[in-house]
Amino acid sequence: MQRNDEARVWRSEFVLSNELPADTSQQHLLGLISELNADPKVDGILVQLPLPAHINPEAIIEAIDPAKDVDGFHPFNVGRLAARQPKLRSCTPYGCMKLLAETGEDLHGREAVIVGASNIVGRPMALELLLAGATVTVTHRFTKNLRAHIERADIVVAAAGKQGLVKGEWIRPGAIVIDVGIHRQADGRLTGDVEFDTASERAAWITPVPGGVGPMTITMLLANTVQAFRAHVGEEPRT
Ligand code: NAD
Repeated sequence: MQRNDEARVWRSEFVLSNELPADTSQQHLLGLISELNADPKVDGILVQLPLPAHINPEAIIEAIDPAKDVDGFHPFNVGRLAARQPKLRSCTPYGCMKLLAETGEDLHGREAVIVGASNIVGRPMALELLLAGATVTVTHRFTKNLRAHIERADIVVAAAGKQGLVKGEWIRPGAIVIDVGIHRQADGRLTGDVEFDTASERAAWITPVPGGVGPMTITMLLANTVQAFRAHVGEEPRT
């Protein structure tokens, strides 16, 4: 990305896409990341996950310059969020926080239940909600009685990757429900982790699938890239 100083307009110079064959070695991928880290024309680097089984995703994510980690997955950026000093934030949870802000509801002291504890959604979502002052419960595959947790939640964030796992009748009347799950049906339709029709009769706010969290993830990726660019040109501190 480049700034046109005169007009103070940002122009996206290019989006570089490196499509690599599935048998690309980890060493080759690390070499490419090293080149992109060193390239001053590159503001943001995103490695599309999942990676082939022979490549260690943690090693790849950790190789990305944290200042260019626009996915917000690098342990440095996750640590900054945990330490209440976020820099580049994981896009999907960050997008969920923007949606929550749109409700205008005060999140302080609200009971938030997250369904799923992955590195890319559940865990950073918990850190985001904690930062916002919510009382956070993270449920996962070993959680007993998911229903009891959901039934007392003011805010539900469903990200288990299990179609229809969260039943509409479990939703507390007036709750905010954010459905991160994405499931493609045989006929091409997309659905989420929440039973939308029944849940929407009880929730005060609910995100649909598609058209809810997905577009926010992309939006926050762009926002992170602009933030990385601004840090790069000295408009805000780098890491
Ligand atoms: P993942 O498979 O990495 O993690 C799933 C998590 O759910 C795990 O922590 C697991 O312990 C937990 N889980 C499984 N069964 C559970 C149960 N019965 N109760 C509670 N927790 C349970 O998945 P992920 O990468 O975090 O993605 C989750 C879903 O979100 C998927 O459907 C994915 O496609 C979707 N997703 C959407 C976006 C978006 O932009 N909308 C972004 C990322 C992921």
